[in-house]
Amino acid sequence: MTARSPRTPRFPLALDRLQAPARSRVGAAADELLRPQRPLQHAAQAAAQSSTPSGLGLDSAAVRQRMVARLREQGLRCEPVLAALGQVERHRFVDSALATQAYEDTSLPIGLSQTISKPSVVGHMLALLFEGAHARAHGDLGRVLEIGTGCGYQAALLALLARSVVSIERLRGLHDKARANLAHARRGDLRLVFGDGRDGHTLRAPYQSIIAAAGGEELPPAWIDQLDVGGRLVAPLQDATSGGQVLLVVDREPGGLVSRRLDAVNFVPLKSGTA
Ligand code: SAH
Repeated sequence: MTARSPRTPRFPLALDRLQAPARSRVGAAADELLRPQRPLQHAAQAAAQSSTPSGLGLDSAAVRQRMVARLREQGLRCEPVLAALGQVERHRFVDSALATQAYEDTSLPIGLSQTISKPSVVGHMLALLFEGAHARAHGDLGRVLEIGTGCGYQAALLALLARSVVSIERLRGLHDKARANLAHARRGDLRLVFGDGRDGHTLRAPYQSIIAAAGGEELPPAWIDQLDVGGRLVAPLQDATSGGQVLLVVDREPGGLVSRRLDAVNFVPLKSGTA
């Protein structure tokens, strides 16, 4: 990752001057956001009668291992990330009516028009963080800043991979939901913050890893300010060239900032303020 290709321009650069994304994976990512559909809602009503998801429970570890095996077959090779994906019970982070779909490679609604990302996208982004200089030197993600807690699933994964995690959510309803979801599973040093993640969280800065689950027109300056030397940021960003979002990777090297634009992605928008 330290080798700089022609697609790896140096900061500071106007973001709209950076290169267009690789086109080969545009189609693959186009359906990433799953919107709740009517049959799903009907299923939800029926399944809401039961609080225990059928087909899960004692054998959910086996179901998760099958998900991990599929992700490995698809090319995810980062062992710590695969281990974390095998450990965190994704079905506990979604509505019980959707729990039977929790280990499929699909995004799912989590309420308030937001979605939990597909496991393959989460795995890909976490693996990118693991290729940063700090993670390669230390074997963990260090101090992590996550923007967009959502239901808390990715925060639970991060808690297994980092020394500490600060996760920020701007919607009170989801912040509270994540707190409840993580109550049973709180591991390590994980702090949930209600606020506008565009400001980052100065109290624990600088961070060795920053990851966003929502994409805006531009990268909030606070994120770059709070990125440590040797640290890496992975975030979706609106791309002027394609009109869609791309995954942006920014490294703070000793000599300055280096950024690359990768795959086309489709995350929910990064919004301002709280609600
Ligand atoms: N990682 C989450 C994905 C949640 S979707 C999970 O595992 O469930 C992205 C989230 O980003 C949404 O909950 C949305 O409300 C939140 N978000 C959008 N803009 C934000 C901002 N400025 N600050 C904090 N959170 C934000």
